Amino acid sequence: MTIDFNKNKDGLVPAIIQDAKTKNVLMLGYMNQEAYDLTVATKKVTFFSRTKNRLWTKGEESGNFLNLITIQSDCDSDTLLVTVDPVGPTCHKGTDTCWGQENTGGFEFLSELENIIENRKAQADGTVSTPEGAKSSYVSSLFKSGINKVAQKVGEEAVEVVIEAMDNNETLFKEESADLLFHYLILLQAKGYKLKDVVKVLEARH
Ligand code: AMP
Ligand code: ZN
Ligand code: ZN
Ligand code: ZN
Repeated sequence: MTIDFNKNKDGLVPAIIQDAKTKNVLMLGYMNQEAYDLTVATKKVTFFSRTKNRLWTKGEESGNFLNLITIQSDCDSDTLLVTVDPVGPTCHKGTDTCWGQENTGGFEFLSELENIIENRKAQADGTVSTPEGAKSSYVSSLFKSGINKVAQKVGEEAVEVVIEAMDNNETLFKEESADLLFHYLILLQAKGYKLKDVVKVLEARH
């Protein structure tokens, strides 16, 4: 692979850091030859920090390392695309990306919600104990009322989405869409599936 470290007189090339799984752009840093070599050797993304004026392994203080997956040079060898598996939030302000949480499309939240739903099912099944105060969980009670009841709820919410779509009420349409998605996640869980299982089917068709 060719990398033109001499295009800029400071010997630095910009490195776009992308999450290998979610494809989110996480941050931008700069690498010189040394930073690049160290990144490849250690499999931990290392930059040349213009602020610190030294080599900087992302995560050296926070522990939020960027584990290297791939490095590619662009068409004219002056920009790197680095795909990574991030250990934690990449931005030092606590968000997954340096452009905030908004550019992640909200899919991280969906998977967080899925985990909460999974936990409520385990509580309903009695495989994990229910902490004090969580006894009145709506999701747990839905799981306890059985799969037919959950499926029926999805049907009801789907009908409500159809009605609001025809009524042209934007707010209610979004509210009912959220209800549908939420209850659909519960139904998937009740059947022992996750959203990723459905995504796999879609990908196979693509
Ligand atoms: P870290 O490399 O994550 O241990 O963070 C060490 C220091 O580097 C932080 O205190 C920040 O000053 C800086 N820093 C960390 N992450 C970023 C980032 N994504 N973009 C810019 N500066 C950062
Ligand atoms: Zn280029
Ligand atoms: Zn940042
Ligand atoms: Zn509804």
